[in-house]
Amino acid sequence: MSAAEAEIGVIGGSGFYSFLDDVTEVTVETPYGAPSDSLFLGEIAGRRVAFLPRHGRKHGLPPHRINYRANLWALRSLGVRQVLGPCAVGGLRPEYGPGTLLVPDQLVDRTKGRAQTYYDGEQREDGQVPNVVHLTFSDPYCATGRRVALAAARGRGWEPVDSGTLCVIEGPRFSTRAESRWHAAQGWSVVGMTGHPEAVLARELELCYTSLTLVTDLDAGAESGEGVSHAEVLEVFGQNIGRLREVLFDAVAALPVTGERDCGCATALLGQEPGIELP
Ligand SMILES: [Zn+2]
Repeated sequence: MSAAEAEIGVIGGSGFYSFLDDVTEVTVETPYGAPSDSLFLGEIAGRRVAFLPRHGRKHGLPPHRINYRANLWALRSLGVRQVLGPCAVGGLRPEYGPGTLLVPDQLVDRTKGRAQTYYDGEQREDGQVPNVVHLTFSDPYCATGRRVALAAARGRGWEPVDSGTLCVIEGPRFSTRAESRWHAAQGWSVVGMTGHPEAVLARELELCYTSLTLVTDLDAGAESGEGVSHAEVLEVFGQNIGRLREVLFDAVAALPVTGERDCGCATALLGQEPGIELP
């Protein structure tokens, strides 16, 4: 590929199936199979952006069946080096009610059996064999991306929660009350189904990754009603999609250009022998 077709990627979650109005749709194949959908290329403030609906544009993919490896690989192959990952979550504390925007700085993986590394030693279809590598992941999110996202939210008058722990469950069901109370008792902030392995796979490809979580409901243990329904999630997401889009637009415009990233994400593989060629 000659010039990068996009430098920033946005992976939209439940209720978020389109991002830009004037887009070019491209189909990307990867050594890991097909991503969730086509990628939609457009421009914001002179920055080239690739949008990917995480669940497919018709929400045909449950969280555990999303091909996360293909999604991140496809973005990188278009030239993307920084990714913004908005997603719907449940609040684990009463003060994190619907409409709360929380930019997590930590992650707890409670998923089961998802492909969560490119470096599994398994020969790929193209004959390349990745080595096993062990990356530092103590801070799972890009420090620059987080700072930019928080500033973008404040700039739109939407005071975000700065920091917190995103607990990622396997789904597709929501938590039981007992699970939810347990998550809250650990001090975790919000619960979702897609944040892992998205964040770690981004790191494995030396991509900057920033999670923006939008609380659509209080999780089962944090409220006293019947518990969350998918309809409620979509309703609250719909009410907030406009301002979330504005925040993402401002964040895209404010992210550093690809060659000027000064965070650790860009050199995550330094000193490692991945054994495969990154796109
Ligand atoms: Zn970074």
